[in-house]
Amino acid sequence: MKAIRRFTVRTVLPEPIAALGALATNLRWSWHQPTRKLFESLDSGLWEESRHDPVGFLGSISREKLADLAEDADVVERVAAAGEDLRRYLENPRWYQTLGEGAPRCIAYFSPEFGITEVLPQYSGGLGILAGDHLKAASDLGVPLVGVGLLYQSGYFKQALSRDAWQQETYPVLDPDALPLTLLREEDGTPAVVTLPLPNGRKLHAYIWRADVGRVPLLLLDSNVPANDDGARAITDRLYGGGGDHRLQQELLLGMGGVKAIRIYERLAGCPAPEVFHTNEGHAGFLGIERIQELMATEEPLSWDEALVAGRASTVFTTHTPVAAGIDRFDAAQIRYFFDAGLAPSVPTAKILELGRESYEGGDPSVFNMAVMGLRLAQRANGVAKLHGEVSRAMFAGLWPGFDHSEVPISSVTNGVHVPTWIDSSITDLAEELAPGAAVGGRWDVVFNVSDEEIWAVRRQLRARLVEDVRRRLRASWKKRGAADAELAWTDSVLDPDVLTIGFARRVPTYKRLTLMLRDPARLKRLLLDPEHPIQIVIAGKSHPADDAGKKMIQDLVRFTDDPEVRHRIAFLPNYDIAMARTLFPGCDVWLNNPLRPLEACGTSGMKAAINGSLNLSVLDGWWDEMYDGSNGWAIPTAGDKASPQERDDVEAAALYELIEDHVAPRFYGASSKAEGAESAGAAGPSAAGTNGVPTHWVSMIKHTLSHLGPAVSADRMLGDYVRELYTPAAVSGRSARADDFRQARELAAWTKHVRTNWSQVHVEHIESGGLSEVPQIGDRLHVNAYLNLGVLNPTDVLVEIGYGRVDESDELTETHIVELEAVQTLGNGRYLYGGTVTIERSGPFGYTVRVMPRHEALASKAELGLVVNAG
Ligand SMILES: *Cc1c(COP(=O)(O)O)cnc(C)c1O
Repeated sequence: MKAIRRFTVRTVLPEPIAALGALATNLRWSWHQPTRKLFESLDSGLWEESRHDPVGFLGSISREKLADLAEDADVVERVAAAGEDLRRYLENPRWYQTLGEGAPRCIAYFSPEFGITEVLPQYSGGLGILAGDHLKAASDLGVPLVGVGLLYQSGYFKQALSRDAWQQETYPVLDPDALPLTLLREEDGTPAVVTLPLPNGRKLHAYIWRADVGRVPLLLLDSNVPANDDGARAITDRLYGGGGDHRLQQELLLGMGGVKAIRIYERLAGCPAPEVFHTNEGHAGFLGIERIQELMATEEPLSWDEALVAGRASTVFTTHTPVAAGIDRFDAAQIRYFFDAGLAPSVPTAKILELGRESYEGGDPSVFNMAVMGLRLAQRANGVAKLHGEVSRAMFAGLWPGFDHSEVPISSVTNGVHVPTWIDSSITDLAEELAPGAAVGGRWDVVFNVSDEEIWAVRRQLRARLVEDVRRRLRASWKKRGAADAELAWTDSVLDPDVLTIGFARRVPTYKRLTLMLRDPARLKRLLLDPEHPIQIVIAGKSHPADDAGKKMIQDLVRFTDDPEVRHRIAFLPNYDIAMARTLFPGCDVWLNNPLRPLEACGTSGMKAAINGSLNLSVLDGWWDEMYDGSNGWAIPTAGDKASPQERDDVEAAALYELIEDHVAPRFYGASSKAEGAESAGAAGPSAAGTNGVPTHWVSMIKHTLSHLGPAVSADRMLGDYVRELYTPAAVSGRSARADDFRQARELAAWTKHVRTNWSQVHVEHIESGGLSEVPQIGDRLHVNAYLNLGVLNPTDVLVEIGYGRVDESDELTETHIVELEAVQTLGNGRYLYGGTVTIERSGPFGYTVRVMPRHEALASKAELGLVVNAG
């Protein structure tokens, strides 16, 4: 076993500058500019060579140079001050420490990918970056989170292009010793190991690496260990590589191995056991099985039903996609094969199979669905934007039959972005109080104190920096594609720092429609080359290696950009990653997003653009659907639901061209709000603008965007929402379930069984009403009596409601109001009279109905058990 790099760094760092070790290994540097500046100041040449990777940077400084630095009083003082600043950041109480006892003592956050910095390439796209931002915001706010994931030997992949523009993937192998990671060791110094049984008597062992994300430890399981056979070693080879068994074994390691890793970490680090387990998308869902296994294997074991209740109470599941391909579905037989090997020896495999069964109409009975299991294993679930919550409720409604979609117990928390990571320092430099300051939150409205000229100058500077970056990357890409330097002089004048710059970068699944802008190539060309209001476009994105349709889209696009007529105005940059993103978002004036609505669950790149003063031009999907307000950007209109895919693309592409031509470009070049299109004819070329060359209307939109969207899209806001709406309620439920040796969990499990068994006896026998005028009118009070038969259940077991309101032609209630009915008389033989009154408050068609549902204090929603008896 090689010594890990961190240890090496520490031993060679002279004592006076020893704090550099902690500053390099704690990933706070990735969002803390003063720390990065400190490294750069020590040796800017080596800093560039190490590609801004502090661990690599320190490793590359010679002993002599280190000794010199340790003798330099100024360096010693600055290093000590930075070390002290980090120590305070890690130890001092923050927002979360003001919340008191109700909030969970620890939260475990599981995700298949984490995008924290390009130095730790363990992400493919939005899901991973979101997870990274979640950890960073948790750190800033003092939320006691532990992250759990896998360490992939090659991360995702590196993207390059062939001469004919086909995506090329490479998988450089990462050396964990050279990454900002620490191996978790037992007290005797040997590596801590997680072990899972595999079929045929094989075993899967994994080491646990810890990354420090500010205050938040992130545990990454690594199967590339000597004790494994070759097959087991390769389980964590790549992110989202392979299919079938390979993917399943990754997810078993992540979920079940992840819980084991947490337990080892609790023991070695002496930290509290998590009171809440959060699974970020279905991939990590097996964590619920491992926790049930724990509860069924104690000296006084819980039964399956009891353990399920107890585990669910403290589990949160976040679903991230309405796209079928984004949801893992395994063959049920595969699941049986692995669990029969003894992965969860106390849990009956048949019970596990039931959890993932698509037992609803239209489901495939041979399939094991990870999202469905996630929903069944978590008492609380959410989507990632308001619209996505709605879409998810409809999508999974089959699990709660008999309830309206709006009542399906899936809420939403809109994603956010970690502002200190994604805001450019030139934006924060505009005003001292602007934006970050992390925990305390910035005062975004101070942007109104900044002059238009200053803002416009910063925007140009950011655009110019992007232009430089694009030229450099484009030249490098062409060299990889086989071009000689002599052919590449043109790349030095690609793009123009004064031309309206539109950005589009994201993964390339079909629904994101990378090539929508190519729908009418001639029209796109005209927009790019417009003599008065030209635009330029920068595009990036990786296609999943198995997705040839995605690669074809990239190829079509790159071929268009290769055309000498337009190549100075449109560029595709290979290998989209966090490093590219940090120059790209701030450098674009407009961030374009044109997914097929409503398939973009949230989207976060537009948020990152917004906090840098870029304006969004997007289909009303994901976050934009709830945050577009008419003056912070533009909404691309969408075709109606009835349109064919062809028609949708035609209509939406045409709308996009029109918006750019008539609204976006004229305003950028200085038109004021009125009659933009008409005015444009008279404008005097690309530099035409309002007062002092500043397009005042455009700048006012920038200010509005920063002040309004800044706080709304921040990951601090998101974390606060999770803590209040999900983590704290889950901790409270979890504690209640466990108290007194799981008294409530046992009781709820027994009660649920009793209710389920006898639910078929529940009937609404008869309903009477009175109190209406001869011609019903507003203000009438409608008295409703319902005669119910509850069979062996008691009135305390049920909730009886009248739902009333407007009805449509088919008698569906719309705008439903709910009033609870009370048991007013016991009629014997399980029969009860329920009564209540509603006041009619509006005219028009009116209807009502009565329904019965199970009621228990430990249920988080009335739909939770999926049981309801509707009258009639
Ligand atoms: C933000 C980000 C994403 C996710 O962007 P979406 O808008 O959600 O598609 C993907 N990759 C990188 C590098 C990012 O920074």
